[in-house]
Amino acid sequence: MVIVMKPGAPQSEIEKLTRKFEGMGLSVHPTIGQNYSILGLVGDTQALQETQVAATSSYIDRIIRVQHPFKLASRHFHPDDTIIDIEGNKVGGGNLLFIGGPCAVESREQIMEIAQSISGLGAQLLRGGAYKPRTSPYSFQGLEEEGLKLLQEAKAATGMPIVSEIISPDLVDLVASYVDVLQVGARNMQNFALLKKVGQTKKAVLLKRGMSATIEELLMAAEYIMSEGNKNVILCERGIRTFETYTRNTLDISAIPAIKELSHLPVIVDPSHAAGRWAMVEPLAKAAIAAGADGLIVEVHHKPDEALSDGAQSLLPAKFGRLVSVAKHIAQIDHAVV
Ligand code: PEP
Ligand code: MN
Repeated sequence: MVIVMKPGAPQSEIEKLTRKFEGMGLSVHPTIGQNYSILGLVGDTQALQETQVAATSSYIDRIIRVQHPFKLASRHFHPDDTIIDIEGNKVGGGNLLFIGGPCAVESREQIMEIAQSISGLGAQLLRGGAYKPRTSPYSFQGLEEEGLKLLQEAKAATGMPIVSEIISPDLVDLVASYVDVLQVGARNMQNFALLKKVGQTKKAVLLKRGMSATIEELLMAAEYIMSEGNKNVILCERGIRTFETYTRNTLDISAIPAIKELSHLPVIVDPSHAAGRWAMVEPLAKAAIAAGADGLIVEVHHKPDEALSDGAQSLLPAKFGRLVSVAKHIAQIDHAVV
């Protein structure tokens, strides 16, 4: 249930109501805006009658019953876009975020070369897997902690904050001690123990949509993280599995406006894992930005033919730079036309 207060409702009234609902065993999530304040109630609100709630304060403007199973992730709870700040790099609310880097950290030379070349080409954050969730146990599994150390070296050299995937709850503390954004991959979107554990950290979380997950399931996964106290969730559409096999996955462009309608969280797009082929990355990235995505995460490799994973979908650094420039132009056109 969401209680929208009248403009100018005093703080003392908001506190009084908060105590009242907390006394009823509910948790209260306030959003204090310039012109309005909202109290989001989480818990068993079934027995609460709207008329009964309305009678508790003359400062209540209206009461909305949230029909979705997700609450904290719902736009009803937080009408304005959430803006997440990663060391000065903002995402959401009109701020675009560009993340680039290899699928996996392979060596010092490789990560340094890629990081240095893309940092001048519009990349704000550096991605690189250290723990890789591979389909085959015989494929390269990542450099693990050594990979995280190399990412930190690349951050020290370029200033770019780092994003890396976390694949199990017992590694969360270790990975969180090295990275700026914890990535929960598609294969782990419903690893509830992992979601709860990353929800207990203060790091921003990049939550990728499971390859067969509905938008509602993605938002429920975000709700798991947020209900543990971590509100810094960036959602990522990376393609879903359909009957089509020409591409690696099918990029669900409609997920972008759908999520924007349902949720206040930023949503970025990974065209690399959607396409599976580098030549399709730029067209998909352009479509994503035109559809309202808050940013892109793109795989980049200086020697794609030699990459230990996902070389076929990796862009050369110069192509990544072009993609970022074009994406920024598309976003500007969208803002310029009224
Ligand atoms: C990745 O980003 O390297 C990755 C494995 O992506 P996904 O979880 O979307 O497959
Ligand atoms: Mn990859």
